[in-house]
Formats: sequence, structure tokens, C-alpha cells
Amino acid sequence: MEFDIIFQSQKEFFNTHKTKDVAFRKATLLKLKNILKESESNLYEAIYKDFRKGSFDTFLNELSLIYNEIDFFLRNIDRLSKPKKVKTALKLQPGKSYIYNEPLGCTLIIGAWNYPYLLTLIPMVSSIAAGNTCMVKPSELPQNTMQLIAELINNQFSSNYLYVAEGGVPETTELLKLRFDKIFFTGSPRVGKIIYQAVAKNLVPVTLELGGKSPAIVTQSANLEVAAKRIIWSKFLNGGQTCIAPDYLLVEESIKPRFLQLMKEKLDETQYTDGAEHYVSIINKRNYDRILGLIDKAKIVYGGKHNEDTLYIEPTIMDNVTWEDAVMQEEIFGPVLPVLSYSNYNALLQKIREREKPLAAYLFTKNKDEKDKFLQLLSFGGGCINDTLMHITSDYLPFGGIGNSGIGNYHGAFGFQTFSHQKSIVKKATWGEPDWKYPPYSDKKMNRIKRII
Ligand code: NAD
Repeated sequence: MEFDIIFQSQKEFFNTHKTKDVAFRKATLLKLKNILKESESNLYEAIYKDFRKGSFDTFLNELSLIYNEIDFFLRNIDRLSKPKKVKTALKLQPGKSYIYNEPLGCTLIIGAWNYPYLLTLIPMVSSIAAGNTCMVKPSELPQNTMQLIAELINNQFSSNYLYVAEGGVPETTELLKLRFDKIFFTGSPRVGKIIYQAVAKNLVPVTLELGGKSPAIVTQSANLEVAAKRIIWSKFLNGGQTCIAPDYLLVEESIKPRFLQLMKEKLDETQYTDGAEHYVSIINKRNYDRILGLIDKAKIVYGGKHNEDTLYIEPTIMDNVTWEDAVMQEEIFGPVLPVLSYSNYNALLQKIREREKPLAAYLFTKNKDEKDKFLQLLSFGGGCINDTLMHITSDYLPFGGIGNSGIGNYHGAFGFQTFSHQKSIVKKATWGEPDWKYPPYSDKKMNRIKRII
């Protein structure tokens, strides 16, 4: 495979220090934005062919966020790449202290399929902004999108700087043999462990953006109308194939009948019928079968229709689900919403705590005590109170998981840090040298050290 030749050329290019030039980074980001803007109709066409994802969804949930990230760096890259002066401790006087953000070198980004543009290009933008070279391996499942990303980048940029490698498991396995300076992976916890293990022998720093079962809780005091609208939107967006979608719902038992009714009304309004231009299909037959296998027909209270020819699964709500049901044993990653009820909020939080730490969690309530407990007692990547998904859209919030849902984070300045080394520097004056740290030692020196420290 030619990957090692390209990798070698990227190493050589990085060593020219050209990528450290801030003007060069900005020009690259601007060029990338223009390429994407000029290719929008092709980007829409490719993703629609892959899993019937429409242009509205693609613009709102992928392209607009990529443009936003590029604009963030164009505005902030000068500030971010300057050495940051920090306080200097008394023991380091006379002197000054700085943090230098140093590019890591040759980076590799491995993407998941569900937001194929977003999950490859946002990390690539962060990597470019931080001054690295970059190889990107998009998911092979949406073939048209993978080919288009490769065509756009590989035709417009020199491969010794930016390169898109097409392929699946064998190609990724080859790439992992190369000694990258950073690997940024988005995908399942199962494959995340394979990646982590494969590169541990070279001590390659890794960011893992993984998944899991993210809960949404609706308590008695919630604004049910708003909660139903926001939960339905986020759960069934992208055909339910969103890493931070509410995976399952926990509803206080006294409001459950009313809340189910409201969710059904909201779903009726979406018109997510088979063949609807605005409803995304399941990515492939394997996932289609897997998702159908999680549905217990006896528990369906809404939806349940499906069509193998169009890989359509109707938005489906299951009621009276228990923690032991099949649908509660793995990340659903499809348009199926299991609803469980609870009566004791504290016991509910404890139950969530017994499971793997989720990528996201959501709480709908007006009660301060419930909000406080949710924030203090649950550990999860990120989330919202009285909303869903929207935390991912902010440049000012780090996005990432914890425990089984990931290691590290990105977006905005956090992405810049993820792709940089924070080099600590003390610049000392050559005058005023105290002798207390130098031998021979004495009680007098010891007393002076104790006073200073
Ligand atoms: P996946 O783990 O199957 O694949 C991700 C990438 O890994 C792909 O590029 C694939 O080619 C590669 N890959 C797969 N098997 C491999 C192997 N054995 N060795 C080396 N590389 C391999 O994930 P997916 O199906 O593309 O995406 C779904 C998962 O990703 C879900 O768990 C979802 O929650 C998670 N996800 C997380 C985020 C996030 O930002 N945290 C975003 C999207 C998806």
C-alpha cells in the first residue's frame, strides 16, 4: 500500500516547518471552506445516494457546523497560536513563564459513518489550525461520501500535507502500523479499544470519540410540551443514527400517559413516512436487521413499520420497557425509543450510575434540586438541561466522552489543544541567582527554602 510513502512525505513536509506558519494555516482553511461551498450540490448528492440524507439535514447538521468551525479558527488562530504568558512562581524569579502550543506533527483521523462530513472534516480543521499534517480515513460504509471527500481533498491539496485514505478495516489496520504523532478516532467503543491497543506500543496519543447509551429523563415538573418536541426531534433526526441522541427515555410514572400522547402527536407532525425526502434511511442491511432485532413487538405503542427495500424503519416507541430487555443491552443507534418509568428520582440516578458512563445525558425539569443532583451525581460526556443535542453546536464547549464513551475532546479552542502539545517554558534572567538550591547544603539554606516554599 502507498500509505507509508505518503506518510513519509508528510513527515518530510512537516519538518520543513511550513505548517507552523499561521498565514499558511489560514489560507488552507479558507481554501477548504471555498472547496466545500463550491461543491455543496455534489456533497448533497453523494450523501443522499448513501443513506437518503437530505440537503436540509446535511446543511444544518454537518456543513454549517464545519463552516462555523473554520470561521472560528480564522477569527481566533492568531490568538490561539501565540505563546501564552502565565504567572511565574516566586521560586522561579527573576523570570517569566509561557505555554507554547506546538503542533504534534503527522496526524491521523478515522471517522464514523453517521455524519460522514462532520466527523472527518471538523477534526481535520482543528488539526490544520494547530499546524499539523493530516491523513483522514473516512468510514467506508457511505461509499459515495467517502469517495467524494477523497476526491475533493486529494485533488486540491498536496498529499504530503493533507490526504484522504479510502478503505475499511484492512486499510485502517495498515495505517495503524505507521507511527503517527496523533490519532483521532470516532466510532464504537469496540473498535476504539482495537485502535488504542494497536498504537499503544508506539505511545501514540489518542483521542477516542465513542458512543454508548445516553439517557433522557423527564420529571414531573418538566414542561412536557417542550420536552416532547425536543426529544422527538433529536431521537429521530438522521434516522436515529446520532451518537448523542437520547438512546432511552426515563419518565416519572404519573406523567407517562400524557407524555406518551404528546410524543405521538409530535411524531405525527414530522411525517417521517417511508419514502419521505426528509427522513434518513438506515445505513445498511446489517444495521437494519440489528435494529429490528431489538424491537419487542408486544411493547410497540407507536410505529413499527419497516421496509427492507428502502431500509426504512418507522420511528418506533416502545413502552413498559425494563432494564433487562434486549433494547437496553446495547446502543440502539436507530429510530427506536424505549420508554421506562420511574417513581424514585434518587434510585433512578443510582441505576444510571451502575451502567457505563454515557456520551450524553439530558434532563427535563423545573426543579432545582433535581438539576443539582443530575449534575453532581451523574458522570457523562456532556448534555443539556431542558434540551437535547445542542451542546455539540457550541465552539465554547468541549465535546467528548468519559470512560466507555471516550477519551479527550475537541471543538473550537479545545480541538486546537487536542492537536497541540502544550510546551511549558520558563525564561530565566541571568542575574540575581540565589545559591540556596546548590550544594553544599546547610541548615541556613534549608530554612530559606522552607520560607520560600
Ligand atoms: P465503527 O467503530 O464500526 O467504525 C468507525 C471507523 O473504524 C470506521 O472508519 C471503520 O472503517 C473503522 N474500523 C471498523 N472496524 C475496524 C477494525 N477492526 N480495525 C480498524 N478500524 C476499524 O463505528 P461506526 O459504525 O462507523 O459508528 C457508530 C459508532 O460510533 C456508535 O457507537 C456511535 O455512538 C459512535 N459515534 C461517536 C461519535 C462521537 O462523536 N463520540 C460520533 C459518531 C458516532
